Amino acid sequence: MNNKDDKKTKNKWLYIILIIILVALLIACIIVLTSNGNKEDENTLAYTDLIKEISSNNIEKIEMTVGSTTVKVKEKNVDEEKTAIVPNTESFIGFVQQKVDEGSDIELIQNPRSVWAQIPSFIISILPTLIMLALFIMIFKMQSFGEKGKIYDETEIKTKVTFDDVAGLDEEKEELKEIVEFLKKPEKFTKMGAKIPKGVLLYGKPGTGKTLIAKAIAGEANVPFISMSGSEFIEMFAGLGASRVRKLFEKARKLAPCIVFIDEIDAIGARRSSNSGAETENNQTLNQLLVEMDGFSSDETIIVLAATNRPEMLDKALLRPGRFDRRITIPVPDLKGRLAILKIHSKDLKLSADVNLESIAEDTAGFTGAELANILNEAAIEATKNKHESIENDDVEEAIKKVTVGLEKKARTVSEKDKRLTAYHEAGHAVVSRYLPTQTNVKEISIIPRGVAGGYTMYKSDEDKYYISKTEMQERLVALLGGRAAEKLVINDISTGASNDIEVATQIARDMVTKYGMSDKLGPIDFQGKEPYEIQMFGENIGDKIGEEVKDIINTAYNRAIELLREHRDKLDMIAQALLEKEKVNEEDFKKFFEDEK
Ligand code: ADP
Ligand code: MG
Ligand code: ZN
Repeated sequence: MNNKDDKKTKNKWLYIILIIILVALLIACIIVLTSNGNKEDENTLAYTDLIKEISSNNIEKIEMTVGSTTVKVKEKNVDEEKTAIVPNTESFIGFVQQKVDEGSDIELIQNPRSVWAQIPSFIISILPTLIMLALFIMIFKMQSFGEKGKIYDETEIKTKVTFDDVAGLDEEKEELKEIVEFLKKPEKFTKMGAKIPKGVLLYGKPGTGKTLIAKAIAGEANVPFISMSGSEFIEMFAGLGASRVRKLFEKARKLAPCIVFIDEIDAIGARRSSNSGAETENNQTLNQLLVEMDGFSSDETIIVLAATNRPEMLDKALLRPGRFDRRITIPVPDLKGRLAILKIHSKDLKLSADVNLESIAEDTAGFTGAELANILNEAAIEATKNKHESIENDDVEEAIKKVTVGLEKKARTVSEKDKRLTAYHEAGHAVVSRYLPTQTNVKEISIIPRGVAGGYTMYKSDEDKYYISKTEMQERLVALLGGRAAEKLVINDISTGASNDIEVATQIARDMVTKYGMSDKLGPIDFQGKEPYEIQMFGENIGDKIGEEVKDIINTAYNRAIELLREHRDKLDMIAQALLEKEKVNEEDFKKFFEDEK
């Protein structure tokens, strides 16, 4: 799907390799040129001495190259060869020949001219300059590479992706069909006087299929797809961004009807605020984009699609009528969407009968299309590694873990002390969740290191939910802090192993107070205001109050976790012990520990 990027990086590598070769050549040239001058100091034989030595039959071998005045000389009883400069090669050869005829045992070797020797010496002397020049041109070309490689390569701009390749997103596709129609038959729309949007902004998390759907529109309408990423506009020299935008649209006008896709538009379209260097550069680029978008009339049949995962960052000017006035949110797929995506991406895979796509879809709430595609790919790798005939359920399970927590690191040695700590930490999460009604069941607990984590507790995936209640969020905090609570309770010391839990918990608590208005003291107000002054209007010390509330929520949750673990200490010990023995506890084993309670 990403052959455009592949091609780009391939070309980039080609350039880099060429540059390396050129640099090597340059160095070689310099060495050759300078060494010619140096050689004379060491191991040289003056011409007169050479003649003398030849006359006294002290020379064993003379090697010379046609056209060169430098000869190699091997004296008898001397190991090293010497060189000598011969003023007149013709007469020198004549002289040696005569000596040979007279019975001297000199071996005279005459080499043909080498390729290098045939190049006029002035060219050799300007070669370094030529190479330098070539280097400069190439480096300059690399700078403007993004444009050249992407825009001017006609083969890249035809895409075969269609709506059939985009799973789920039915409503979004429906909405975008209008644009496909317009690209196909613009006259139909203009005759009617209908206004077609010039720009469509796609909002959504990375990997939700924004690029894919943009390509699909081009594919459906059978028009060229010209794309560029926002970060590419700003990465190079100052002033280049604006000129790239200009060139991009120049090309688009030539190819119209077509789609212009600007990925990561937030990189250029970020709110204009301060006046730092980078900002001004961005402004120029952004201004150019605005000029271009205002510049073409709506019957020019160029549709500009842009993608971002940070809509709040965008400059308002981009959202004005006649620019990106149509906005479509690309959501993370729901159960139905995930199943559809899994189906599309497993089309070419060999799945064994025990693989159940429905249940994978159920287990992967919150996963994006890219992550799901990645899981299937990893599963295929896993199956190959395990020498399975086809992809088995175990391969998929392992792939899911690999994608979510990272690679299992069986080889990493862990001290007994750390193992005990991890076992109690993970058991703490699991036991606490068990007594929290809103939390999902434990699926697997492990103390085998994986990725950066020393262990993990996996839960059964949540149903897709649109709303999360306050109770649910509070209990989630208790579950998250259960790890740290167990460390404190049992080992009476705490570790860095809980840092991720704490990060997530703090974020949730902060959102509860500042985003979802769940704090009784502060009330239902959105404090994550879009502009700094929106926060300021609540008074100077509002920040302190927010901080106190967050702290309060976290502390309450932590204390609840400690309480729960105290109450069920027997279970905590049993499960930690089981983990120390077997390293993993699965769903069934876990349930057995609680059988006595029913
Ligand atoms: P984004 O541009 O939103 O970051 P991409 O369009 O680049 O995401 O998606 C990355 C990959 O994930 C796609 O190439 C595709 O393989 C897969 N993917 C994402 N969403 C979908 C979807 N709805 N249907 C099929 N594949 C998808
Ligand atoms: Mg993308
Ligand atoms: Zn933890």
